[in-house]
Amino acid sequence: MQISDLQIGQVNKQIKALVDAGSFYGKKLEEAGISGITTAEDFEKLPFSEKNDLREAYPLGLMTAPEEEIVRIHSSSGTTGLPVIIPYTAKDVDDWAIMFRRCYEMAGITNRDRIQITPGYGLWTAGIGFQNGAEKLGAMVIPMGPGNTDKQLQMMMDMESTVLCSTSSYALLLAEEISKRGIKDKIHLKKGVIGSERWGEKMRQRISSELGIELYDIYGLTEIYGPGIGINCKYDTGMHYWDDYLYIEIIDPVTLKPLPDGELGEIVITTLVKEGAPLIRYRTHDLSRIIPGECPCGSPYPRLDTIMGRTDDMMKIKGVNVFPSQIEEILREFPEVSSEYQIRISHLDGKDTMRIYVETNGTVDFQKLAGRIAGTVKSRIGFTPLVKVVELGVLPRSEKKSKRVIDERYS
Ligand code: ZN
Repeated sequence: MQISDLQIGQVNKQIKALVDAGSFYGKKLEEAGISGITTAEDFEKLPFSEKNDLREAYPLGLMTAPEEEIVRIHSSSGTTGLPVIIPYTAKDVDDWAIMFRRCYEMAGITNRDRIQITPGYGLWTAGIGFQNGAEKLGAMVIPMGPGNTDKQLQMMMDMESTVLCSTSSYALLLAEEISKRGIKDKIHLKKGVIGSERWGEKMRQRISSELGIELYDIYGLTEIYGPGIGINCKYDTGMHYWDDYLYIEIIDPVTLKPLPDGELGEIVITTLVKEGAPLIRYRTHDLSRIIPGECPCGSPYPRLDTIMGRTDDMMKIKGVNVFPSQIEEILREFPEVSSEYQIRISHLDGKDTMRIYVETNGTVDFQKLAGRIAGTVKSRIGFTPLVKVVELGVLPRSEKKSKRVIDERYS
């Protein structure tokens, strides 16, 4: 998806603001002797920006608009080192809500819906993003925040919530709890808007069938507004994203060269109209591809495929590059195993080893199933993992992001 002339004009305005504000990116451009671009080729010569650049700007180095125009900050969870602080102007907050309203509309959600929001509120962009978009739409918000499953279910029944906004693992936990308590006939949910986490088709089917709802994947990251920059439509052929606010490229994470539409690589995002903290060619480290062609829904907005993982999830096992999504794809072909799994990488006797834990019910031969899974991984990816089959319910569920890949080599 080549950058358009209109988008080039918008990038130039973002560049000017960054240079005028003396931000890290403005300095990068000055060092590279770039003051603007005129063609798509020029755009591809612009330097990338990275999470580390943003961390180094802590606390308010990213602020690009005058202080009196900043109305809010958000922060990404800093698991390592300093967090990233993103300042927003009133227009940024409003633009984000407009994008989020489009997401709800794309999912067929209207102002007659009652939207139960379970992601966290506060410095995170999650809860408040879901909320502002829903208010922009005119729907009734039930702002629960995370956890407290008893209260969640009570409100879900009493308020007759029709839409659940959640992470996939929390949606699964709620679905299992609803079935355990036998209260499905008191639940009025029709749709789920599920964000911020990679999840397999199996888990999706389980949540969808246990709750009897349609599911929509929402995409976004704190550095670029927050959740709400893209969502799938009812045809479920990838996530439409808002190219009047963002320009998205897919690059090869090793050579850093842009890839043609359809090829899997790293998502790189440029904001087109952001004021508080514009970002040019920001490397997300999320893996996906741009889906070529038109969607049957007729929407003019381009599409990104479901997030396939993170570039930093790439593992080297016995000299072979492996993404967890490849293992997940293989597990999906085994109807006997549940949607939960765990991958553990360790270094034993001088060799890297991958152990895969999967769950199944008691009706199959665990040993044979393990052998078949290991054989499929060997033939598709090129090495033999140790596969351990366990009883259904043994692997951990969590209210937060499930940790499915545990690398024990460096701990
Ligand atoms: Zn569509």
